[in-house]
Amino acid sequence: MSVFDPEEQNKQPDSKIVAGFERLSQVFRTLLWDQAKAQQLSPIQVQLLIFIRYHGADKNNVSYLAREFGVTKPTISDAVKVLEEKKLVRRVADQADSRRYSLLLSPAGKKVVASSENFTVPFSDWLAQRGQKEKEALWQSLSGLIAALNENGTISIQRHCFNCTHYRKKGGAHFCSLLDAPLHSNDLRIDCPEHRE
Ligand code: SF4
Repeated sequence: MSVFDPEEQNKQPDSKIVAGFERLSQVFRTLLWDQAKAQQLSPIQVQLLIFIRYHGADKNNVSYLAREFGVTKPTISDAVKVLEEKKLVRRVADQADSRRYSLLLSPAGKKVVASSENFTVPFSDWLAQRGQKEKEALWQSLSGLIAALNENGTISIQRHCFNCTHYRKKGGAHFCSLLDAPLHSNDLRIDCPEHRE
C-alpha cells in the first residue's frame, strides 16, 4: 500500500490527500529553485534571507536557523559564509556575550528578499479567489496538521499557539493569556513573535 500508487489513491481519499501535499511541496521547491537561480543563490540561502528579514535577533543565529530548517549547523554556517561574502548579511555581536552573534540583512540583502519572496504568488492568487468560509476551513485543517506534526516531532520547531506558554483553553475555546483575548480558529498563529515555549 503506497500513497504514490494511483490505484491506492483512487480507493483511499487519505492517500490522495497525502499525495496532494507531496505534489504541493514539489511546487514550492520548484518555485523557490527558480527564484534562487535568478539570484545566483541556493534555495537554502534564499530561505535564510527571507527568514532573517522577518525575525528578531534571538532567532537569527546559526543554532536556531539549523533547527528551523531541519539541517545541520555546518550547512547553515556554509550558507551564511556565502551570504556574507556576497555582502547580503552581516554579523552583529551580542552585547552581553561577544562570542555570540546574530545576523542582519544588508540593504542589498533586503533587495534580494523583495525580489525573491514572491515565489508563493501562485498560491496567494488561488486563495484570493476563495470565499472566507473555505479559507477558514482550510486554515483550521492546516494549523491542526502543523500542530500535530510538531507534537509528534516531525516538525522540529514551531511558534504555534498550541505549544505556547500563553495558550489556554477557556470555556472550551482557544485563549491567549498574553493578548488576554480569545483566539478564534482564524486567529491561531504558526509564527507568532510573542510565542514562548
Ligand atoms: S502569544 Fe502568540 S503563539 Fe502564544 S498563544 Fe498568544 S497568539 Fe498564540
